[in-house]
Amino acid sequence: KIRLRYAPSPTGFLHIGNTRTALMNYLFAKHFNGDFIVRIEDTDLERNVEGAIESQFANLNWLGIIPDESFLNPGLPTYGKYMQSQKFDHYQKLALDLVAQQHAYKCFCTPEELEADYEAQVAKGIVATKYNKKCLSLSKTQLEQNTQEHKPFSIRFNVPEKSWTFHDLVRGDVTFQGKDLGDFVILKSNGIPTYNFAVVVDDYDMQISHVIRGEEHISNTPRQMMIFDAFGWNYPQFAHLTLIVDASGKKLSKRSGNALFFIEQYQKQGYLPEAIFNYIALLGWSPGSEQEIFSKAELIKIFDETRFSKSPSTFDMTKMTWINSQYMKALSDQDYLNFVKKFIDQNQFDLTNKTDAWLNAVLLLFKKEIDFGEQINHKLDLFFDTLQLSDETKSLLNQFAHRHALIDVFENKIRELEQWNLENIKLIIKNSGVESESKGKDLFMPIRIYTSKTEHGPSLVDCIYLLGKEKVLANIDFVKQ
Ligand code: GLU
Repeated sequence: KIRLRYAPSPTGFLHIGNTRTALMNYLFAKHFNGDFIVRIEDTDLERNVEGAIESQFANLNWLGIIPDESFLNPGLPTYGKYMQSQKFDHYQKLALDLVAQQHAYKCFCTPEELEADYEAQVAKGIVATKYNKKCLSLSKTQLEQNTQEHKPFSIRFNVPEKSWTFHDLVRGDVTFQGKDLGDFVILKSNGIPTYNFAVVVDDYDMQISHVIRGEEHISNTPRQMMIFDAFGWNYPQFAHLTLIVDASGKKLSKRSGNALFFIEQYQKQGYLPEAIFNYIALLGWSPGSEQEIFSKAELIKIFDETRFSKSPSTFDMTKMTWINSQYMKALSDQDYLNFVKKFIDQNQFDLTNKTDAWLNAVLLLFKKEIDFGEQINHKLDLFFDTLQLSDETKSLLNQFAHRHALIDVFENKIRELEQWNLENIKLIIKNSGVESESKGKDLFMPIRIYTSKTEHGPSLVDCIYLLGKEKVLANIDFVKQ
C-alpha cells in the first residue's frame, strides 16, 4: 500500500515551502490511491509554537490537502499515535532494545566533556568533528557504577564503518560513508528521542512507503537508514525536493522581497485555494507540457514521480497571481460575488444605502479586472465619494480642446433624461459627440473624466449607468470647478 506523510514540527505556520512538501506527498499518495498522513513531530518541546498545529490543519484543509489520517482521524491502532510527544515511552523502549543488541550504547559524557573534546579536535585542524566513541568502550564495572550513581546518559547510535546508498527519486543514487558520520544521539538524557530516531520509528509504525521532503534532510537519510537496518526494517523510498528560491536566488523565506510567504496571508488577500494548489504543484515538479492551469483532480491524475525538477525552483508571485486571476475569471458570477463581497472593506465603503442589485452590478464590472479579492477595494473608489481628482487627471482633461462644449451638451441631456437606462445613456454620448464635433478618444475621455473623476474604469456606459444621474451630475459639477 502506498502511504506518504507530511510531518511538520509545530514550530511555525504553513508557508510556501512546507505547503509544497505537503502537496507533493498528497499528490503522490492520491495518484496511487494511497493514504496521505499528517503526523506531528513535536519532540523539540521548547521550540513548539502555540497555535501552530491548529493553524496548519486549518490551512491544509482550506487548500484541499486533506489528510486520510492524523491525530484527528487516526488509522489502525498499529500505526501508533500521530503526535510524537505521545509516544515517548515507545521510543525509549526501542532505543534500549538497540542498546541490548549493541547497535547503540549509553553515553555518560557531560556537555562540558563533549565541548572540550570537540574543541581539542578543532585545535588539531579537524573540521568535521565527531564524537570520540569514549563511552562505547566503558567496562562493565564502570557502566554498573554509573548506573548506581544515577549518572544521566544519552543513547548514541554506533555507526558502522560501511557505506549507504539510496536511490533518490529526485537525484538518483546518493552514497554516504559511515566513517564520515559520528555516533549520533538517538535518545537524549531527558528521555526524549531525537528527530532521526523518532522519524524512523514512526515511518515504520505507520508503514510509510515513500518519504518526500526538503533537501535539507538529505544528510539525515543515511542516519535513518542505519536505524532501519539495525531494527531489520525495510526502508521507504526517498525523494528530496530541491530548494525553493526567491527572485534573488536565495532560499525563500518570510524576508524574501515582496513575495508573501505564509498561506494565511494569501487567504487574507483573497487568493483562491485552488489557484494556490495549482501553482505550488508546479513548483519543483513539471507536468511535462506547456499547460499551466490544472484542477486538483487533473494534477492527481497526471502526477508522475519521475518529473521532480533537479534544480532549484524560483517562486514567482506574479505568476501565482496570474494563475489566481485565471481562476477568478472562471468563477460563475454568483460564486464570484459571494467570494469578492467578503473582501470589501466596510470601513472604507459605506454600503448601508446601496441595494444588493446595484452592488452586484458594480462588482461584476470588475470580475475580469481583479487578480485577487482584496483588489476590489482599489476599484470601488470610483463609485463612492472616496475618489480624489488627481492633478494628472486634471491636466489630461485639459488636453482636450472641445471639452467645454462637449460637457455642456452632455450635461444638459443627462439632466433632462427621464428613462435612466443603458440605451439612452449610449445615445446621449453619441449625440453629444455629433453636436460638439468630437469623436473617439476626444469624446469618451472627457466624458469619462467629468463623470467619474478618473481616466480609468470599466465600460463608460456601465459606469455612468451605475453611478446614477445624481452622482454623475455632481461629479461633472465638481470637475468643472
Ligand atoms: N519534522 C521534519 C521537518 O519539519 C520532517 C522531516 C521529514 O519529513 O522527515 O522538517
